[in-house]
Amino acid sequence: MIHFDVMDNHYVPNLTIGPLVCAAIKPHSTVPIDVHLMVKPVDRIIPDFAKAGAGIISFHPEATDHIDRTISLIHDCGCRAGLVFNPATPLAYLDYLIDKIDLILIMSVNPGFGGQSFIPQALIKIRDARLRIVASGRDILLEVDGGVKVDNIGAIARAGADTFVAGSAIFGSGDYAATIRGMREQIAGAA
Ligand code: ZN
Repeated sequence: MIHFDVMDNHYVPNLTIGPLVCAAIKPHSTVPIDVHLMVKPVDRIIPDFAKAGAGIISFHPEATDHIDRTISLIHDCGCRAGLVFNPATPLAYLDYLIDKIDLILIMSVNPGFGGQSFIPQALIKIRDARLRIVASGRDILLEVDGGVKVDNIGAIARAGADTFVAGSAIFGSGDYAATIRGMREQIAGAA
């Protein structure tokens, strides 16, 4: 997937890209665009990203007043819906929602900037999220975002994640293909 980080300089202290860039990428992409909204409020912009070609739209529960309604809005727009958990956000938000979502995104850094270090406590939350997914019996992606590198992706996979966001680790390396290959080897070794 293409992970697409949207920041608004309001919910998070940085500004990135919007629906026009998503729409520009879409014709060149053979994989789903995974839109991670770090914006507040979220509802107004969701139909714009759906029209721009998003396959998955994820949001932070703190960024909307009506979490259940926002999930319904994403589905009504024809996209899969994800819920994102900051390092200190409890998974309790899933108690009454896990039947409705398609993806859980665990933040292993505080959102706002690339290039931060992985917060180890995220591994505990990934394990807890995996248990909840198994108990639900549903097909839900468990994605991890922040500080994912070749040397920790195996531990992240062992904790239960199946989807990994990597930016700096790949684009800051000299050989993108070799880095991705190294990540895949670590994930395969963790199985
Ligand atoms: Zn992200």
